[in-house]
Amino acid sequence: MSNPVEASGQVALVTGASRGIGRAIALALAAKGFRVVGTATTDAGAAAISEALAAHDGCRGIVLDVTAGDAAAAAIDAVVRDSGALHVLVNNAGITRDTLSMRMKDDDWDAVLATNLTAVFRASRAALRPMMKQRYGRIVNITSVVGASGNPGQANYAAAKAGVTGLTKALSKEWGRLRVNVNTVAFGLIRTRLTEATADTNAQIDIDGRGIKVGVNPDLMKVMEAQIPLGRAGTPEEAAGAVYLFCTPESNYISGQTVVCGGGFSLS
Ligand code: NAP
Repeated sequence: MSNPVEASGQVALVTGASRGIGRAIALALAAKGFRVVGTATTDAGAAAISEALAAHDGCRGIVLDVTAGDAAAAAIDAVVRDSGALHVLVNNAGITRDTLSMRMKDDDWDAVLATNLTAVFRASRAALRPMMKQRYGRIVNITSVVGASGNPGQANYAAAKAGVTGLTKALSKEWGRLRVNVNTVAFGLIRTRLTEATADTNAQIDIDGRGIKVGVNPDLMKVMEAQIPLGRAGTPEEAAGAVYLFCTPESNYISGQTVVCGGGFSLS
């Protein structure tokens, strides 16, 4: 089968589409004519996605916990069965469990690695089968500048996001010849519930009350925004714009790459 040249009508699965960046990606792709399936961890979340996408044909919300064994593989099988194909997978679902490494519990480590890294591998592995068969696919993995720079209080998150970059490069080298392109978008600071949680947690870090403080600042968002060349956090809609290019046939000759969407923030 030849490479499609039209994005319109293609089927895209976006994990973690109930809010924040994933919701904006789902809406942006739907507006461009993709048939979008967005996931949430709850029935209410899935229903809200279906409602948000109601104006667009073939779009809907489904329930998926990306950490639940082969649930992502089952969801992908169902999408291919119901929609006839899968052209685009956006591995967006992610969590933080921030605390300094000496206080980090195994649970905090395991949950963040399971959601932000292992689940990306599992969903990608499942998506590769239909994509290889049709000789076309786009996998876009969402990572963070923190995966390259590190960040106090985010050892688990930084490790997971760095892992996603390596995973992306390996997959792109394995499957490029079958026209499956795999790229990452690394976000800087985008205003969502996730970053509000990061700001709150960092404000509380104070090692044993001995005055050794890391990232302590009640106005952490303002401090972080001051370090961004554009001088402000991004919006979920701006984040979705960066993801869109990698979802389309226009990016046919780009694979294994990371684009930084961080208001001018650079990794080098
Ligand atoms: P958010 O507002 O907290 O949304 C997170 C999404 O992930 C929700 O839809 C949530 O679904 C879903 N999710 C969480 N655990 C899940 C699981 N086990 N299975 C399936 N879905 C799950 O976060 P966000 O800021 O939009 O972040 C989206 C992505 O961008 C994440 O990968 C994050 O690491 C990355 N990122 C964000 C920023 C930023 O500044 N915001 C920066 C760098 C990278 P429910 O609503 O059902 O829980």
